[in-house]
Amino acid sequence: MVEDCIFCKIIDKKIPARFEYEDSELVAIQDIHPQAPVHLLVIPRKHISDINAAQESDCKLLGGLIHRAKLLAQHKKVEDGYRLVLNNGSKAGQSVFHVHLHLLGGRPMTWPPG
Ligand code: AMP
Ligand code: ZN
Repeated sequence: MVEDCIFCKIIDKKIPARFEYEDSELVAIQDIHPQAPVHLLVIPRKHISDINAAQESDCKLLGGLIHRAKLLAQHKKVEDGYRLVLNNGSKAGQSVFHVHLHLLGGRPMTWPPG
């Protein structure tokens, strides 16, 4: 656990969140400011600040986020159209520096994103 990391605190159940899934490697919670009818965050328990900080040894863990997002998209019945977003760096919109994969679905989406 990293001090002052909001997602580490959520994973540690030190602050509340609406959990959709958890296992030994990752958790999935509802985003507090949802941008779509389905907006989940799939978060590894391991604190990795961003993709730049990820190691080759994290490949399985990071791939697991995508696999879990797929299963959650099916569970939420948005598997016919959903977006997985991983903001990396503040210029790209990252605001919480603990890697997380956004799962957005349940509405039409445009491209390119802003
Ligand atoms: P990003 O901007 O890609 O770093 O995404 C961070 C996301 O975390 C945003 O969509 C926020 O709405 C969300 N968020 C921040 N604090 C919380 C919280 N306490 N519980 C759930 N989601 C949060
Ligand atoms: Zn953290």
